[in-house]
Amino acid sequence: DAAPQVHAFEADVSKLLHMMVHSVYSDRDVFLRELISNAADACEKLRYEGIATPALLGDDAQPRISLILDPEQGRLTIEDNGIGMTAADMGETLGTIARSGTKAFMDRLAADAGKEGSQLIGQFGVGFYSAFMVAREVEVFSRRAGTDEAARWRSDGQGTYMIAPVDLNEAPARGTRVVLHLLDDAKTYADRFTVERIVKAQSGHVPVPITLFEKPDAEGTAIADGAALWLKPRAEISEADYADFYRSVAGQYDAPARTIHYRAEGRYEYSVLTFIPQTKPFDLFDPDRKGHIKLYVRRVFITDEAQILPRYLRFVRGLVDSADMPLNMSREMIQDSPVLATIQKGVTGRILSDLQKVADSDPDAYRQIWENFGPVLKEGLYEDFERRETLLGLARFRTTASQDGWRSLKDYVADIRENQTAIYYATGSDLDRLATSPQLEGFRARGIEVLLLPDQVDNFWTTVGIDHDGKPFKSVTQGAADLSLIPLTQDGEQPEQPATGDVDAFLTFAREALAGAVSDVRASERLTTSAVCLVAPESGMDRQLEKLLASAGQ
Ligand code: ADP
Ligand code: MG
Repeated sequence: DAAPQVHAFEADVSKLLHMMVHSVYSDRDVFLRELISNAADACEKLRYEGIATPALLGDDAQPRISLILDPEQGRLTIEDNGIGMTAADMGETLGTIARSGTKAFMDRLAADAGKEGSQLIGQFGVGFYSAFMVAREVEVFSRRAGTDEAARWRSDGQGTYMIAPVDLNEAPARGTRVVLHLLDDAKTYADRFTVERIVKAQSGHVPVPITLFEKPDAEGTAIADGAALWLKPRAEISEADYADFYRSVAGQYDAPARTIHYRAEGRYEYSVLTFIPQTKPFDLFDPDRKGHIKLYVRRVFITDEAQILPRYLRFVRGLVDSADMPLNMSREMIQDSPVLATIQKGVTGRILSDLQKVADSDPDAYRQIWENFGPVLKEGLYEDFERRETLLGLARFRTTASQDGWRSLKDYVADIRENQTAIYYATGSDLDRLATSPQLEGFRARGIEVLLLPDQVDNFWTTVGIDHDGKPFKSVTQGAADLSLIPLTQDGEQPEQPATGDVDAFLTFAREALAGAVSDVRASERLTTSAVCLVAPESGMDRQLEKLLASAGQ
């Protein structure tokens, strides 16, 4: 045998581990969910690789996870017969921070220095390293499918870990065994009732059966059947089942705001189980805007890179299981498959119609969804031409008529002033400043409602020439506001009308004084109490967009 190699953890891992070890985290139970989900992932990876290379499965094709308790030694072992790891794999994955969730966690931790790390763990889940919340030492024995070598990883979580080759009989015949030497105050995790309770509550719906062994030499008892929840009829599934499944499929710690579960039976058959989260997932505004719908084919996990939903629905979590796709398609071929195209269209339509249903029947619930995901959904206004009308129908806005509430375009159009030919909006980065902008005076005075658009995305969809109900969207900062056809309302302030000659003389003077700085100076109906305001030319870029592009270095 080669000598064990000692390695130092990456600095970020050390920081994370230090926190784990010293956390008095109230819900340490989550470590088990993390380790079981790794074991299940490993089984699903093997199931997938086994399609192209059946030899990897050998005569042990049924995936399984075993939890082996040893109350006397104070040990808990989690073992799977999944894909396994080589010594090199271990070096790459169990000493670094690969997982994006964990990276996001560390960034957040650095950002809100004041916040308790242990609170944050609860929101993120930090994978393998959470084992150190309950263990003084962790050992991992593993053998990668199709290889004749096994390796052992061990660490006490204090800055270093070691990796060494081991004899084949010390590791599972295939897959991974994680042995936790439990801390004195965590011995309860070697207790049958504790472990069974946690698994049922957290991992009852992982797609791999779980067997519990009360003692190393005891008979096993099945505690989770590995059945695919999404293939069961809705009537047999409780809300708690759905919530549990949501947490394990989505890696989220909240509950679903909406659960969308159905079976499509047209030209192609597929099952869909998707969720809209109650809270914003941490990666919502990551630049890669990655989706989170997993693709299964007849219960076999294929990929989570299939982009089943458009990017503006990336907050939706869950899976689609197709009955028609061939199992042995490469991930590249899947992208071009007509089956996938049908699924994409079907699921997107279904989710949007579900949102419409909530919007119609439960405005409070919808408000919550819109507050979380509205800025993301609005990306669809310029990215998804085909569904623009639907998305406009779903959109809600702060407006001069309702700065705290949310108005739909339907509300807007219902209250539109006579002779009003456009839907007016103002963009900015701060709602309060927007609401008090002098640009709005003339509109207020005439009782014309203005949409207040504070999100970055608003600078984009408003400039692609959208109209609604035959009326174009028009920025209040852009061009002549042509408000003269709309009379001032009773309570609007009546500005004193200066003599036309005075106005013309002043304009000539101002044009000369500001030559080179502005392209024109005009009298405007836009203002009532303020003397001047800046506007962009009718055909040029909107001022807010101009600022945004300038700040992005364009
Ligand atoms: P994540 O599961 O999000 O990738 P983790 O910290 O939970 O992050 O695990 C890190 C990596 O370690 C996994 O991506 C995987 O490559 C490897 N790993 C952990 N547990 C197992 C296991 N039981 N079998 C195979 N690989 C594993
Ligand atoms: Mg994991």
